[in-house]
Amino acid sequence: MANKTVTRIGVLTSGGDAPGMNAAIRAVVRSAKYYNLEVYGIFRGYEGLIQNDIKKLENRDVAYILERGGTFLKSARSQEFRTSEGRKTAYENLKSHGIDALVVIGGDGSLTGAHLFYKEFGIPSIGLPGTIDNDLSGTDSTIGFDTACNTAIEAIDKIRDTASSHDRLFFVEVMGRDAGFIAVNAGIGSGAAATLIPERKMPVESLIERLKSRAKAKKQSNIVIVAEGGKSGGALEISKKVKKFLPTYDIRVTILGHLQRGGSPTSFDRLLASKLGVAAVEGLIHGKEDVMAGVINNKIVYTPIKRAIVDDKEVDEDDFRVAKILSQ
Ligand code: ATP
Repeated sequence: MANKTVTRIGVLTSGGDAPGMNAAIRAVVRSAKYYNLEVYGIFRGYEGLIQNDIKKLENRDVAYILERGGTFLKSARSQEFRTSEGRKTAYENLKSHGIDALVVIGGDGSLTGAHLFYKEFGIPSIGLPGTIDNDLSGTDSTIGFDTACNTAIEAIDKIRDTASSHDRLFFVEVMGRDAGFIAVNAGIGSGAAATLIPERKMPVESLIERLKSRAKAKKQSNIVIVAEGGKSGGALEISKKVKKFLPTYDIRVTILGHLQRGGSPTSFDRLLASKLGVAAVEGLIHGKEDVMAGVINNKIVYTPIKRAIVDDKEVDEDDFRVAKILSQ
């Protein structure tokens, strides 16, 4: 733990945007002010840090953003920050503003960048898990995940109306390149016939068997959820394979895409983001650095960033079992 006294905090959002990022920024700004610290907003993530796009924030700057999706600080992916020259420029810009601590809100890539930056320049930094993918260890849920699941389920409910009216088989692709968290959650929540996720391979023959047995059981509609990075391919690819086995089926594909990133955050995400924003500031005040703040079993937990970004968070075995049992 550091003994450095933090006086001026910089906050940025980086990587893919997620609903609740605004709530987290607001909580960082308001809690920093509560503890008489100055706070600076860094626009467009690491890209803005390199380009010195930095502005002092006051409480009024974060009014009316709690309920808004996206991030008012904007987000970006920065190739330059991956280079040591880029990170050196970023450090010089921080110093020129007298910023002595950082809060980075983003996914595993953004937190990897924060860890590297800390190792190179020793600026105390705290990461907040801001990603719809829920693929960070050290927290039960990431900021934005709950909203993305709700959005996906709402869309799938609407697809079900048309699926059952026309006896169609729908393949619905949800986000999750490497992680099936949204898919499993949406699969259970929408009563899907099957859920295909990157972490597990489901042979197309098993899927056909499942669909045939559902036909025998006279199921009214069939919706298969596919995570975009599924081992057997995306929704389009799988639908083509299935069509070969079931040529008489009327098969349609819907890719939910970016609509899962948008929208007003749910109460769960607002609460999570607010708690974590305060935890970030309090963590810095108490000398924490190079850690990610998360919530596990309803308690704030600080996990070394190095540990949080390890790709070992898995879809709960029980959730997967529940999805399977309920899809028969
Ligand atoms: P999401 O989960 O939504 O994709 P993310 O934070 O994982 O969000 P990335 O594009 O992986 O998104 O990372 C965001 C930014 O973090 C990158 O554009 C880059 O600037 C920085 N970053 C990622 N990995 C590294 C790295 N190894 N070294 C330095 N910077 C990195």
